[in-house]
Amino acid sequence: MSTKKVNKIGVLTSGGDAPGMNAAVRAVVRTGIYHGLDVFGIMRGYSGMVDDDIFPMDSRSVANIIQRGGTILKTARCKEFFEPEGRKKAYENLKKRGIDGLVIIGGDGSFRGAQRFSNEYDIPCIGLPGTIDKDIAGSDFTIGFDTAVNTAVEAIDKIRDTMDAHDRLFLVEVMGRDAGYIALHSGIATGAENILIPETKTDIEELIQSLTEKEKRKKLVNLIVVAEGDEFGGANELAKVIKERIPQADTRVCILGHIQRGGSPSCLDRLIASNMGYHAVECLIKGRFNVMVGIVNNKVHFTPLDKAVKQKQRISAEWMKIVKILAS
Ligand code: ADP
Repeated sequence: MSTKKVNKIGVLTSGGDAPGMNAAVRAVVRTGIYHGLDVFGIMRGYSGMVDDDIFPMDSRSVANIIQRGGTILKTARCKEFFEPEGRKKAYENLKKRGIDGLVIIGGDGSFRGAQRFSNEYDIPCIGLPGTIDKDIAGSDFTIGFDTAVNTAVEAIDKIRDTMDAHDRLFLVEVMGRDAGYIALHSGIATGAENILIPETKTDIEELIQSLTEKEKRKKLVNLIVVAEGDEFGGANELAKVIKERIPQADTRVCILGHIQRGGSPSCLDRLIASNMGYHAVECLIKGRFNVMVGIVNNKVHFTPLDKAVKQKQRISAEWMKIVKILAS
């Protein structure tokens, strides 16, 4: 714990956007104002710090945003922040306004930036896990995951209706370049026969064999949920392999894409974003610096930023077993 007093804080959203980021911004601003702090919004992630796109926020500036997807502060990937000169510029822009604490809502990349920045300059940073991928260790939930996975479930349910009507083989690709959580959760929730994720190696021979057997019985109705980062390179690539090996299969591919990022945040995402946003400011007030605020076993949990960027949330082997048993 530090005894340094924080008086002026900045809040930004960075990296990939996620539904619920607005709810987190709202909570940070209103908790900050409750404690008598000056709160500044920083536009487009670290770009706003480097380019001096920073503005004072009040309670009204976050009115009517809790239900909105995207982020009113916009988000971006900022190349300059990787360089010491970019971070120096960012620091100078904060310093001239007296901003002495930051809340960063983003993924592990954004936390890496925050960790570097807080090591170099005397500006404490608090990270809030905002990512649809749920790939951050130190929290059972990340802001945006619940909404994204529910969007995927709704879409896949609709696909299953038409798939069943035609006796087709459907490959649905969901987001997740490095993490299979959206695929795993949406696949289990929609009763997918197969779920392919980056964390586990796909046994293609086993898959082809099971599809071939179904085809022989004229029962090739099969839903495969594929994470975009699976080692096959996504649903289109996998479809090519299946087409080659089972040419008679009536195969269709659907890539859900960016619809998974948008939309009004779910109740759960609004709740965790509000809770985390509140605790981020409490951390700055109490001198608990350079941590990520997470939720573990229903309790608020603080992970040092340097630890949070080193660990990934793992998918348990038991989940994969459950997938197999339930789909058989
Ligand atoms: P996410 O936060 O969603 O994982 P990125 O990995 O794209 O997204 O990171 C967002 C931004 O965080 C980057 O564009 C960059 O400005 C900053 N950042 C990421 N890694 C570093 C790093 N090692 N050093 C400095 N800044 C970084």
